[in-house]
Amino acid sequence: MVNTAGKFGPYDPPGPSRPAPGTPGPDIRALTGRGQTGSELVRARIALQVRLRSVAPGDRLADAGVLAEDLGISEITVRRALEGMCQDGLLDRRRGRAGGTFVAVAWDSVVAVLHDTAEAASLGAFHQLLECGLVARSAGEIPAERLGALTSLVDETDRTDDPHRLAELETRFHLDLAETLGGAGVRELAADLLGRLCLLLPAPAAETVRARNRCHADLLTELARGAMDPAVRAVKAHRSAAVSASE
Ligand SMILES: [Zn+2]
Repeated sequence: MVNTAGKFGPYDPPGPSRPAPGTPGPDIRALTGRGQTGSELVRARIALQVRLRSVAPGDRLADAGVLAEDLGISEITVRRALEGMCQDGLLDRRRGRAGGTFVAVAWDSVVAVLHDTAEAASLGAFHQLLECGLVARSAGEIPAERLGALTSLVDETDRTDDPHRLAELETRFHLDLAETLGGAGVRELAADLLGRLCLLLPAPAAETVRARNRCHADLLTELARGAMDPAVRAVKAHRSAAVSASE
């Protein structure tokens, strides 16, 4: 597969179809990693893995072939994406017998340079739209026992003090919520959005996660009793909880 930028083109050409704010009828494919370049998908998924602590700064990544198979894209696309991430300082290539591609030890400080609050706000709004839609469609149709795993995440978040673990639990909640309400495909869509957000915003502070977790608890209570309007309000309150906790 030859990408339109050409074989010797830039590793990370600008996405062709990022809609202007206020563009009606958002195209889901244009807004998710999959609709943009394979390179952005790779970046988002590696960022998500770091947030979920399946890899840590200094850890070796899976081989390009394994990543390509996991993501359903070509190995050459993955290799180019990894090369671009090395150039950005997010990854570190080491040669020799113990070589491979590693998450940069300075991952957090490199990501901080990439932060873009305007793009984060746009993606965050889209993520909220997705959750409101899922909640509106599913309220009253989710058996209470299917919410049990989500309730466990809320309880664990309440008991956790470690800020890294709190940021991880916050992300896990939204991935599992997407899957519970929308199935495996919607979880993938949420993973694309949340992975990209990991590169655009700092990990939420502990007090922000705690404020959001009250909204998680309210959402589950309302979903369990099939109350659509209050459940949608809990999704909206989640966003303003985040804003007020960071002020
Ligand atoms: Zn949350």
